[in-house]
Amino acid sequence: MKRVVMKFGGTSVGSGEHIRHVASLISNHVGKGYQIVVVVSALKGVTDDLFEASEEARSGNRDRVQRLLQKTTEKHVAAARNAIENKPILEEVEQTLKTTLDELEKVLTGIAYLGDLTSKSKDYVLSFGEKMSTLIVWGTLRDLGLNVQYFTGKDAGIVTDSNFGEASPMMKMTAHQVMQKIEPLQKKRIIPVITGYIAATQDGEITTLGRGGSDYTATIIAAALEADEVWVWTDVDGLMTSDPKIVPSAKVIPELSFQEAIEMAIFGAKAMHPRALEPAMEKEIPVRIRNTFNLENAGTLIVKEQKIKPKDVVKGITLIKDLALVNVSGAGMVGTPGTAAKVFDMLGKDNINVLMISQSASEANISFVIHGNVLERAVSTLEIALLGSGLIREVSAEDDVCVVAVVGAGMKGTPGVAARIFGAIARSRVNVRMIAQGSSELNISFVAKETDGEKAVRAIHEEFKL
Ligand code: ASP
Ligand code: MG
Repeated sequence: MKRVVMKFGGTSVGSGEHIRHVASLISNHVGKGYQIVVVVSALKGVTDDLFEASEEARSGNRDRVQRLLQKTTEKHVAAARNAIENKPILEEVEQTLKTTLDELEKVLTGIAYLGDLTSKSKDYVLSFGEKMSTLIVWGTLRDLGLNVQYFTGKDAGIVTDSNFGEASPMMKMTAHQVMQKIEPLQKKRIIPVITGYIAATQDGEITTLGRGGSDYTATIIAAALEADEVWVWTDVDGLMTSDPKIVPSAKVIPELSFQEAIEMAIFGAKAMHPRALEPAMEKEIPVRIRNTFNLENAGTLIVKEQKIKPKDVVKGITLIKDLALVNVSGAGMVGTPGTAAKVFDMLGKDNINVLMISQSASEANISFVIHGNVLERAVSTLEIALLGSGLIREVSAEDDVCVVAVVGAGMKGTPGVAARIFGAIARSRVNVRMIAQGSSELNISFVAKETDGEKAVRAIHEEFKL
């Protein structure tokens, strides 16, 4: 019997009808003999609303908080009513929703009174989204006659550090507890239905695993139970060779390695957070991304060892926009150890994330790429700190650039890939500003003018016939 952790998110739990659809999908798989653990993320848009409600509460905007509460209430009540047919089950779910929403209101009122929102209290507010969505999925599964049990991530045994807002699981303890709490149910043919995204510290304080963290919950649970597979059910067919809005002929990637998936995620293919892949990668548990609205499509399978021979060395191409390129130069940098350290230390202290770095062998300049919205801050930080030092003569910047990242494990040790990439974009008359290839050879990234980005992606997609 196959043991699969199935996670549902996005529009797949966007409304009551969709939840009903998801529940019958689960029921069908149970009928086929799958042993399933269900993980649910918040209804679409709810986490954002809770986020806003907590901020508005801190600022004391009670009207705005009330309106957001109203919206959240209506969304969940409507979803429950559309998903659950059985009257007593619906009543029970509605009653629990009401108690939960009352508690949420009290928490927000408390924040408004104090005018104080800590990362701890924010996580507490954010945890309500998954509590309510999971409750509705639980009720719907019961309505379909399945034997189910509701768990919060905390009750399921996920223990994290106290880095509220982006907590990390303590895997040993978590694995032990999840095994103890969840495993026995599986033997009794009870389906555990677990809230994604939320967990708790050792002291029992509610934490969240970071935005998009429900996928992480699924892989943590799977790793703990040593499940056979993780299926991430969503509203897209899987990971694509490129953004179909840019390349209309983009296709679903049938299979890729964990390394490649992480690389693509880092470069903005928003399918899964790289952190979420780690527990599965460590235990070599395959992760499948599937579309609840297109069951015919097998989706994307992420595995350790690929069985399908890739057609070519390149798997996918992503484009990151709204970036800026900064160039730090000066003859004083040549042969002076510690210049790069100073530059990146300043940026790090200023909480500025660097996407790409390059230094020419002449050492007379260092270039790096950052997000456009922190450009001004970065430049002034560097100017204030370094211009007077004699090391650096100039800090210049361009804010109309993009990064194109070409990903594929097959590039490793294959000569000529870079030549094909840059040949293709040269023929499209795209000028390259900066190039970087990590020594992992899993990706080649380059900087071009923002207006050339899409053209470059199309040219490379065409060259590798993806
Ligand atoms: N609800 C959380 C979020 O929106 C977690 C998730 O959806 O995976 O970030
Ligand atoms: Mg979400």
